[in-house]
Amino acid sequence: MPKRARVLVAIDGPAGAGKSTVARRVAERLDMVLVDTGALYRCVALAASRAGLAFSDEEPVGALAARLAEARAIRLEADKERGVRALLEGEDVSIAIRTPEMSLGASQVSAIPRVRDALLAMQRQAGEKGGVVLEGRDIGTVVFPDAEVKFFLTASPEERATRRHLELVQKGTPASFQETLADVVKRDKADTERPVAPLRQADDAIVIDSGGKSIEDVVDEMVRLVSQREAER
Ligand code: C5P
Repeated sequence: MPKRARVLVAIDGPAGAGKSTVARRVAERLDMVLVDTGALYRCVALAASRAGLAFSDEEPVGALAARLAEARAIRLEADKERGVRALLEGEDVSIAIRTPEMSLGASQVSAIPRVRDALLAMQRQAGEKGGVVLEGRDIGTVVFPDAEVKFFLTASPEERATRRHLELVQKGTPASFQETLADVVKRDKADTERPVAPLRQADDAIVIDSGGKSIEDVVDEMVRLVSQREAER
């Protein structure tokens, strides 16, 4: 594989470890493009829900994902404020895909092999030239096993639920802390136990525990490590 002009950065980890905020700031600081791969799964979940499908209905949900990918109906665009804007058939669904229902829906549809297949080519295309930060669950293990820099960002379930809960409250989406914690634990279980592309850290990933650290500290550490890797090339 020819050397990329700039490195490709993979940031994987469980829900609520601060990945999206960190990935957005790392991309900004390094002047790289951000690809929020979770948003792609969320778009499939939203499309499935709008089509009246159950998230667990493998055959039709898989076919829907394949159709959406083929028609290039799911797109991510750079957004100054949020980092990434998600478009489903031309409609801005950035807010609609962020509900707790779509979090669980995304987790369910992402366990369907055909859905993962449909989104794989899209992710590879977005990242192949480098200069990109891809954030997800299986970037360093499946999508780009050859990523030049791989991070696995984690934290305890309680810390992650606290962060998620705060985000939901700020967005005006009502949810109790206990519900949020239960969702985090449920998604972790589904994401780590699914047979296809389960959440696990790549052997060569740099593990960062965001517990007890500020977002700024985590971003600084990542930017320093990526810059070092770029300088070594
Ligand atoms: O990161 P985010 O919370 O938006 O992801 C939503 C869901 O999409 C995750 O719980 C996970 O099941 C799935 N996902 C995935 N692989 C990725 C990104 C997200 O399976 N690369």
